[in-house]
Amino acid sequence: MSDLAELDRRYLWHPFTQQRGWHDEDAPIISHASDFSLFDVDDREYIDGVSSLWCNVHGHRHPAIDGAIREQLDRVAHSTMLGLTHEPAIRLAERLVAIAPEGLSRVFYSDSGSTATEIAVKLAYQYQQQSGNARRTRFVSLREAYHGDTIGSVSVGGIDLFHATYRPLLFDTLKAEPGDIADMRRIFERQGEEIAAVIVEPLVQGAAGMIVHPPGYLRAVRELCDEFGALLICDEVATGFGRTGRMFACEHEGVTPDMMCLAKGITGGYLPLAATLTSEQIYESFLGDHDEFKTFFHGHTYTGNPLACAAAIASLDVFETEETMANVAALDELLGELLAPVAELPRVREIRRRGLMVGIELDGFEVPERGGHQVTLAARERGAIIRPLGDTVVLMPAPAMDTGTLRRLVEITSDSIVAVTQSAQVGA
Ligand SMILES: *Cc1c(COP(=O)(O)O)cnc(C)c1O
Repeated sequence: MSDLAELDRRYLWHPFTQQRGWHDEDAPIISHASDFSLFDVDDREYIDGVSSLWCNVHGHRHPAIDGAIREQLDRVAHSTMLGLTHEPAIRLAERLVAIAPEGLSRVFYSDSGSTATEIAVKLAYQYQQQSGNARRTRFVSLREAYHGDTIGSVSVGGIDLFHATYRPLLFDTLKAEPGDIADMRRIFERQGEEIAAVIVEPLVQGAAGMIVHPPGYLRAVRELCDEFGALLICDEVATGFGRTGRMFACEHEGVTPDMMCLAKGITGGYLPLAATLTSEQIYESFLGDHDEFKTFFHGHTYTGNPLACAAAIASLDVFETEETMANVAALDELLGELLAPVAELPRVREIRRRGLMVGIELDGFEVPERGGHQVTLAARERGAIIRPLGDTVVLMPAPAMDTGTLRRLVEITSDSIVAVTQSAQVGA
């Protein structure tokens, strides 16, 4: 075992990781990257098949983004937004409002998807309290939802495996069946006057294993919120920045939420940054004299970090100069073709996909067999990094990926599924 591997075992605690299993495994130690490949310390190359956990957009070490960060580094790496402001945060806010669904006009920065949703929940609650709707204290969220790992975002989450342990610490929410508008209507008809906001991952519930909602669902949720006077929060942390085939998933259904949460892809996958966008109506409800205490008392030390904002502006520039969304359209179509034979493999129960968000659900593995994980290990041997959600193999190619790399990624994934399902006496 190398020195680094040894030190990792000695000092680190990895996220979402059973450390006992980790110690038995030789995970690659990544030393550098370029375009859509990661390289380990032994110089082995791997396709980055899940965009470094769903955030990389234009590839690694993109010269425009690298350059923007270096330029900003020559000015200032960090300066607070409490009592001060700076150009990258200002310019990025203008750009985000310009591309967001019409009606979202204010940008509140933070550092991760979890904080972006946590902020939306707090804003919605406070908005209702100071808008004469003191009874509106409850949130509707979807079963199997994932909005992050902080206590507020876990409260609106619905993945028992991740969330059940913490139940006593969480605030109670109303849970609706994913994609079932009749179920949500029932909730509204029973308790509509108590509902502050509905929070959804628009179109695709990513961490649930790519649950894809039926067309029209998001629009119908928007209409229900309007009918009953509740706010709609769209968590575009995973779906934003091109992954579903449009810049934001809401665009597919012409929906403007009252709040939109952005993170993961916002910096092109370079640096931690998040934004919660709100309507002017919400913003204005927070205006008042100091002794009215309508201020939003929330902010993180690294809120609106200038390096991250500079990366985000550069990423938006690259969307334009390289016509990234046209590439997404091409990849979307190609993925449909490439995955058709994969859906026919034995032990593949179902493939769920919207745009570049793909979940390949395997069949017949017992929990300890860790079918999805075995496929990950097999893919690693063949030169691709993927990461499953249980027995759902996830592919999340970067929006800018070239077609040759995408073909190779699907081929490796397919070969790995075949290898694992043939060698295991699955379900037998
Ligand atoms: C990943 C994710 C989050 C959490 O983002 P972090 O940056 O990991 O805190 C929130 N919502 C959705 C939909 C996500 O996919």
